[in-house]
Amino acid sequence: MLKVEDLHYAYDGAIAVAGVSLEVGDTEIVALLGANGAGKSTTVKCIAGAQRPARGRIAFNGAELAGRPSHHVVRHGITLVPEGRMIFPQLSVVDNLEMGAYAVRDQKAKAQSMDFVLDLFPRLAERRSQLAGLMSGGEQQMLAIARGLMSAPKLVILDEPSLGLMPTLVQGLFDLVRSIRDRGIGILLVEQNVHQSLRICDRGYVLEKGQVVLSGTGRELLADDFVQKAFLGTG
Ligand code: ATP
Repeated sequence: MLKVEDLHYAYDGAIAVAGVSLEVGDTEIVALLGANGAGKSTTVKCIAGAQRPARGRIAFNGAELAGRPSHHVVRHGITLVPEGRMIFPQLSVVDNLEMGAYAVRDQKAKAQSMDFVLDLFPRLAERRSQLAGLMSGGEQQMLAIARGLMSAPKLVILDEPSLGLMPTLVQGLFDLVRSIRDRGIGILLVEQNVHQSLRICDRGYVLEKGQVVLSGTGRELLADDFVQKAFLGTG
């Protein structure tokens, strides 16, 4: 389980995260919501070791990860799938997937991860030899998530996975998030698609100006006046 306490981060003196605390239990889906600039991406980058927090604790299954580099965090079982896909267009699907297992030295474990993701993403299995750059936007997003799973994480952080997807593909993405969890992996989900996220998550946190201003179960947050006014256009 992930336990973040009192996380702080500033960009050249501009405070982006100001005391965030949150938890993600084993096999929980937890949504991290908030307006543009609220500090969601900065929070998850700090957790994943892509940015070094100024202060705070990040404990994962007993290990203290605050300030540790991303390859170290990956070895402890946390993977971030960043916003914007960032697949390698000139490489095949399989080669892109291999890149996700760069920190895995055990060849047998690597092969098991490959079987796991190709089973979870039959569309990628069909296209395993194709150049990634020739796939549709939706398939590239699936590839980015599948690559994240190649390190056999216990927790996956997805930063805006539905961004840029055609509306018809968004439901499929949320179904996929559920099926990843159903295979025993916890998920921290950063999303603009608040309604769908709250429907599938166990719990959620709302960030504003770098602080958690609201938290609760998905159901509680869906019914909350502030959430309805700020994000759902209702209430
Ligand atoms: P979005 O949904 O727009 O990605 P977010 O909630 O993920 O928003 P962050 O990207 O974490 O928010 O940004 C938090 C604050 O930090 C914002 O005020 C933003 O302008 C600032 N910020 C983010 N990245 C940088 C950067 N590289 N340099 C300077 N300031 C930054």
